[in-house]
This record gives sequence, C-alpha cells and structure tokens, in this order.
Amino acid sequence: AIINFGSINIDHVYHVDHFVKPGETLASTQYQQLLGGKGANQSIALALAGAEVRHVGSIHEGDAAFKQFLIKKGVDCRGVKCHDTPSGHAIIQVTPSGENAIVLFGGANQTLTADSVRRGLDDTTPSDWVLTQNETSSIAEVLSQAKEKQLKVAFNPAPMSDSVKELPLDCVDLLIVNETEAAAITGESELDSILQAFREHWQHAEVIITLGKAGVIMLRDQETIQVDAFRVEASDTTAAGDTFIGYFLSAYSNKTDARQALTRGCAASAIAVTREGAAQSIPSQQEVDRFLAE
Ligand code: ADP
Repeated sequence: AIINFGSINIDHVYHVDHFVKPGETLASTQYQQLLGGKGANQSIALALAGAEVRHVGSIHEGDAAFKQFLIKKGVDCRGVKCHDTPSGHAIIQVTPSGENAIVLFGGANQTLTADSVRRGLDDTTPSDWVLTQNETSSIAEVLSQAKEKQLKVAFNPAPMSDSVKELPLDCVDLLIVNETEAAAITGESELDSILQAFREHWQHAEVIITLGKAGVIMLRDQETIQVDAFRVEASDTTAAGDTFIGYFLSAYSNKTDARQALTRGCAASAIAVTREGAAQSIPSQQEVDRFLAE
C-alpha cells in the first residue's frame, strides 16, 4: 500500500469580474465548492491509477461529505480524522481571463501530530511506501518514522517553504519536485546546475524533476532518464504535478520499469491539463490507456 500523509482542502471558488480591491465589496458571479489540497489530489490520482492508497489526514467534522468523495474515488480513509478545527481551505478568486488570487488557511491539516503519524504507520509491511507533501504539520515525523520502519519514503516538498531545508531529508528515498522547488532545494537556478547539485548531494535518493510542458527528468543510480511531455492543448494546469505523482508512483511502487512509469505519469498529467479543475481533472486508467494507444 501507499500511505499518504496529506492535506485535504476545501476550495471555495468565486468567479469575479476583477480581483477585489482594498475596501471594495464585490459580488461574485458564480460559486463552487471543490475538494482540493495536494494531499487529497495525489491520493485520488493514486487510487484512480489502481494503487492501494491509505490517506492520513484531518478535516472538520462538518465536512464529512468531502471524506465520502475521497472514499468514492477508492481512497482508504480510515486514517482521516474529523476534528473541531475548521478544514483547510482556500478562498479562490477567478477572473474571466482565468487568473486567480488565493487565500489559504491550513486549518485541520495543521493538527497532524507525531502520534497520528505513529498510528498511521501501524500495520505497515516492508513493501509499503509513504508519501507526503508540505501542506500538513509533523512532516519531519512522517519522514523519520517511515524511515525507521524501513518503508520507502517519497517526498513532494510542495508548496516550497524555507522549513523544508530543516527536515530530515536523508530519510527520503524518492524526491519529486517541479522546477521551482528544485531550484529552492539546490540553491541553483539553471537546470544543468540543478542536476549537478542533485547528483552531488542527493546520492541517497532518486530524484524526479517535472518540467511542465518540457516533460520530466529522473536521476536514478548513475542513470539520467528523460521523458518528453505529450503535446496537448493545455487549458488548466492545476493538479498537473499531483496527477503525475499519483500515476507515476502507482506504477513505480508496483515495480514497473522507471521509464514506463514516468511515461504513464506524463500521459495522465497531459490529459489533466486539458481539463478544468483539480481533482475532477484527473483521468481514469482506461482514459490513460486509450491516450497511450493513440
Ligand atoms: P507542477 O504542477 O507541480 O508545477 P509541472 O508543471 O512540472 O508540475 O507538471 C507536471 C507534469 O505534468 C509534467 O512533467 C508534464 O508531464 C505534465 N504537464 C504539465 N504541463 C503540461 C503541458 N502544458 N502539456 C503537457 N504536459 C504537461
């Protein structure tokens, strides 16, 4: 199984003519409530890709419907606790040109403790993987406890923050970053120097750098595996990275060859960027198979 210690957010999406200005009261023309959060998105992508995924996280007790949504997608949510703290949420303004402005509140995602990590890692077996991002509390405990149990540890330090460098990164077996995160972690700005820095300082781990429409690069032992992105008409790149991670890790944790797993991740995320939204843009396995057969 893959145990994902991750955020669950409720995205409140307000369509507006323009971003609200200081002192202004602005009527929204349309409102939607959607399940979001990198953690939840990655769990959904993993489940749709066919992986056995257990989500460990926390939401407000009044938001149980969002937990049901995850369960319906195939995610084991026995580790999702209902709390009296408000759920993590994002207040998102979207303008007609598709630009957004976001206020994020961590809420219940920040209530994960070392104890909840311990409980989440009960009944694991050595072939299990642990996955986490940078949207919950107790990430250091996730990394170190998972390593102690000799599980495989995948880390996606998104969204990037200064605190990432303080984490026990030597516990990580697989680091998955986009270009911005790769630059922040290595302190380099050019791709060649970023790759060089990873080769020098991250020999303990495999590293995947996603490069948007330029595809993906994986550093694995002495090998550098590069896979191109698929050419598609992108309309909304939200959750591209989450979809990639879910589809890649589902295949890779199941012993699929690295290049093939990267290709599946790229295919699934290429489909996702042609669709609006986050969780609802993640394709099914059948859709990915059909896309790859074309
Ligand atoms: P993030 O969403 O985390 O910033 P990226 O933008 O690097 O991550 O996207 C993740 C993956 O999604 C890429 O490696 C690529 O395979 C796919 N992808 C992203 N944007 C496009 C695009 N415009 N066309 C095709 N594939 C894309």
